[in-house]
Amino acid sequence: MSERFPDVDWFCDRCHDHLNAQDGFDDNKYTWKCTSCSHKNSISRDNIYDSREDFLGSE
Ligand SMILES: [Zn+2]
Repeated sequence: MSERFPDVDWFCDRCHDHLNAQDGFDDNKYTWKCTSCSHKNSISRDNIYDSREDFLGSE
């Protein structure tokens, strides 16, 4: 098993939960349904931000 995006932290777009820490998270999937709020997050390079500040500032 290898990760598509090693060293990338994923956060839910809706509740900002840390997706990497959720049960069964796999970044080889193209979408991940947040186990906290059921929001479907897209796991793709387009959604990577350099920092948490960039991410929050993009909303
Ligand atoms: Zn969520």
